[in-house]
This record gives sequence, C-alpha cells and structure tokens, in this order.
Amino acid sequence: MKSSVKPRLINSPWADPGLFISFPYERRAILFDLGDLGNLTSRDLLKVTHVFVTHAHMDHFTGFDQLLRVFLGREKEIEFFGPEAFFERVEGKLTGYTWNLVEEYQYQLKLRVTEVHADKMMKRRYECRDRFRSGGRAEIQPFSGLLVKEPFFRVEAAVLDHRIPCLGLSFLESFSVNVIKERLSELGLPIGSWLTRFKKALYSRENPESAFGVTWEEGGKIIREKEFALGELAKSIATISPGRKISYITDIVGSDENLEKAVVLATEADHLFIEAAFLEKDRETAKRKYHLTAREAGLVARRAGVKQFTLLHFSPRYSGQEEAFLKEAMEEYQR
Ligand SMILES: [Zn+2]
Ligand SMILES: [Zn+2]
Repeated sequence: MKSSVKPRLINSPWADPGLFISFPYERRAILFDLGDLGNLTSRDLLKVTHVFVTHAHMDHFTGFDQLLRVFLGREKEIEFFGPEAFFERVEGKLTGYTWNLVEEYQYQLKLRVTEVHADKMMKRRYECRDRFRSGGRAEIQPFSGLLVKEPFFRVEAAVLDHRIPCLGLSFLESFSVNVIKERLSELGLPIGSWLTRFKKALYSRENPESAFGVTWEEGGKIIREKEFALGELAKSIATISPGRKISYITDIVGSDENLEKAVVLATEADHLFIEAAFLEKDRETAKRKYHLTAREAGLVARRAGVKQFTLLHFSPRYSGQEEAFLKEAMEEYQR
C-alpha cells in the first residue's frame, strides 16, 4: 500500500504541455503550466492550490481562463508563480473581462501571484471583490531556488533561457508512507478508511504522542474503535521512505549553461518530464527557436541520473514519428 504523488501529463506530447500532480489522501493538486486544460475535469481543477507557469507563451498560459472560470464565485485562494513580467501577463488576462457584479458574490476568490526573478520573488494579491485590481506595491522576498515549502512538499525552480526567462520546476515530496499489509493482519487490524486518516495524520506531521483511533466499520458505521499513540502505530505498521522528486523542464534552448542548470534542477529525479521539440538532425532550427532536441533531453536525463523520463512538446512537423524521439533520447540516456 504505497502512497505517493501522482504526476500526469494533461495532454498528448503533440499538444499543449502541462503536468497535473495530485496528492495522495488529500483532495489537492498542483499544476505545472496552464496550456489547454480541456482534459482535466472541474473536479480535478478544483483540487488545485498552486499553479506554476514556466512562461506565458500561449501554449503554456491559455488555460488561465479555464481555471479562473471554474474557481470564480468560490471562497478560495490560489497561488500562481511565473517568470519575469508575469504580473503584466496575469493583469492582461484579468482586465480582459468585465467584473461589475462581483461584489454581489457570496464567496470571494483570491489570487496570490508571484513573479520569479533571478534573485528575488515579487508577490501581489488580486481579489475578486476588488474586481481583481492589483493590490498596490509588491512584497519582495529573496529567491535562491525555493518557491514553496510546506510540510508535505516543496517546489524548486531555476530560471532558464528561452530567449525570455522560463522557469524549470521540481516538485519534491517530503516523504512517502507505506503501510505493510502483513503487519495489519498480524496485529488483527482491519483494512478500512482509518488508513486514509492515518496517512493524513503522518503527512500533516501530527504529534506522534497524540491518540489515534483505529476503527472497524460495517455498512459505513463504526462498530469498534481501538486507540494507539500515532507514533507507536506508525512504527509497527508502516515504513516511511523518501518522497518522490518530479521535475518538469520545457521550452529552453540547448545551450551549455541551460543544460547545466537543467541537470542541477533535475538531479536524481524519480521522474523527469522534459521537452523534445525537435530531432537532432534539426538542431540548428531548435537553437533558433530556443527549444531542445530529443538528444539534448536524453542528455539531461542521463547527466541528472533520473530514474525515468517522459518526453513532451513534439513539434507538429514530425507528426507520426513519436518513435524517433523516444529512440534518439533513449540512445543518449543509455550511453
Ligand atoms: Zn511551448
Ligand atoms: Zn515557449
């Protein structure tokens, strides 16, 4: 019973890039990039608490409206992160609509937007009740690679070059809880909904001394309960292992400097999602358009020592040649 985050590409590698990362045992998710979100349900989108936009080219930002549409009229705060000039991009979206009736809404959406620069982060709030007008001067914080840190996860970023600044992203789960089934039966404990509560308690780092009730249920009703100290119970039925690292790198030129930064960001990732817009035979075009080739993607994957990688963002000019991308990247990865 392994619990860990689940990353999934929103679209096929031929369509808009984007990654949806959902958390185990919590109705919560984060998004890397905001391209076409049509493949996500409203239920998926409503779990989103943090959005990280690599850059505001249309294929990475057009979904902003879809997301806003789902959240509008809800009591919710969403965090957005993007590169230099991100305030302007977000404000451009927000001023594209008329907001004259929002004061009447019972529930008020709040956006917290962070613009990430090489050495600093600037933060601004936009609230529905103020018609999403910018809330004055930005709050400034230093930036040295870390965007968010919570008990359950952190997100790191590197500012990469796409002829504009473009964020490379890594999601790091703090730890992963695995329940050992055999121990449950040895101790005579049932499998049931209490396991979800149990994992949640560990993820939210509740006091190990605190009391935890294991429950037996029948037909949705609790028929018996036994109390344990949370930490003791964890020791006897679970193993805590290092959490997963998921990296996402797209829309960068294959310069030595970029490749090096990408390798550092993705070091030892369990899963790297990386663009391969072009094949190596068209390397000059890739350079001109500030994108990676499949070989360069494989090179980053190998040098970073990632366990697994997935390619994305294939240029439509190669339609039907998916195998060629995989072969080229894999050859470089296994060298
Ligand atoms: Zn793109
Ligand atoms: Zn781009």
